[in-house]
Amino acid sequence: MLTVEPDSLESFARATIEASGATPEIAETVARSLVSSDLVGHSSHGVVRLPYYADQIAAGTVDPTAMPSIEQTGLFHQIDGSGAFGQVTGRRAVELLLETTNEHGVGVVGIRNSGHLGRIGEWADRIADEGLLFSSWVNLQGGAQRIAPPGTADRRLGTNPITFAVPTFDALDFNLLYDGATSQVAHGKIIERDGSGETLPPAWTITESGEPVEYAADFEDQVGALLPLGGTESGHKGFGLAIMAELFASLVGDGPVSTKESQDWAGNGAAFLAIDPSVFTTREAISIRVEALIEYLRSAEPIADDGEVILPGEPEHRTARERRDQGIPIEDAVADNLETVATDRDVEDALPPAFR
Ligand code: NAD
Repeated sequence: MLTVEPDSLESFARATIEASGATPEIAETVARSLVSSDLVGHSSHGVVRLPYYADQIAAGTVDPTAMPSIEQTGLFHQIDGSGAFGQVTGRRAVELLLETTNEHGVGVVGIRNSGHLGRIGEWADRIADEGLLFSSWVNLQGGAQRIAPPGTADRRLGTNPITFAVPTFDALDFNLLYDGATSQVAHGKIIERDGSGETLPPAWTITESGEPVEYAADFEDQVGALLPLGGTESGHKGFGLAIMAELFASLVGDGPVSTKESQDWAGNGAAFLAIDPSVFTTREAISIRVEALIEYLRSAEPIADDGEVILPGEPEHRTARERRDQGIPIEDAVADNLETVATDRDVEDALPPAFR
């Protein structure tokens, strides 16, 4: 395992993406997003994706120079990703939401044909950092089907994340952020275990026999499916949420839904919503209420000796603080893949010092 200093990892990611044909500005946007995922502990959405992006560019599913196109109807915007990197589309969506919400109190942006939007919490945090509420519903545009309807082991839906963020002003030093897949785990957590030899936690997946999938490599070979959030006991809840995310994203973004004919390409469609809470209440009131709620929640007595009440967004906040200080851990298998991409793109000199 290597430990890499965040800035040097970002420079490397930027050099690799630029060497794949992106403009310096686009390369910087994508690199910053990837490393921000590594920083908050979602390595599944970090630089581990660089080899996939290189493949997508080679296959023509991502155009490294493309910019999304935007249509406006009154207060509302729709973005067509037009083959651009999802991070470029995500950033544009945030800019449009901020402009509209700051002026009118509410903003809605629909997205279709986006490249992979990555960790949706990144976009949520950017909105909440400006004192606004955020929610989103994201689908995989019919591709990357991995969730099985309860009682089956057939892949029918993407891992469709649902995300909420609430600014906390003086109550906490991070935004409350719920950002999760509607499956038991994001698919990236399976990708991360591919090649590691570790068995998958049994609560994540299901096969036709009712048994879980044992290894990530089998799952990647189309064995079984991810269980919806709630697993074998309460999967109807995650399934319902996944369907709603599928349709909100499709109907607001005007993009496709999962069908038998869907192409297996993992871009995103989305509905992003922002609300200015100061239309309804004051910043002071928000801070007081959040503080009161948090204090009450944290007063619950943990059962385990080392137990504690952790808030949504807190694991990411803690990990980012630690990794900014101590560096980002990179698994050996990921480091090997990054070295291969660096060689293929002729940017070995940009590899972080920890690789030498
Ligand atoms: P997760 O299970 O790691 O976290 C889900 C939420 O739970 C987060 O808000 C986190 O802060 C919170 N949380 C985690 N541990 C906690 C604890 N102990 N106590 C309290 N709260 C806790 O997330 P996931 O479902 O594995 O998804 C990971 C990432 O994958 C997300 O950022 C999501 O946006 C991304 N994703 C993206 C796509 C896409 O197509 N772009 C698809 C699926 C998931």
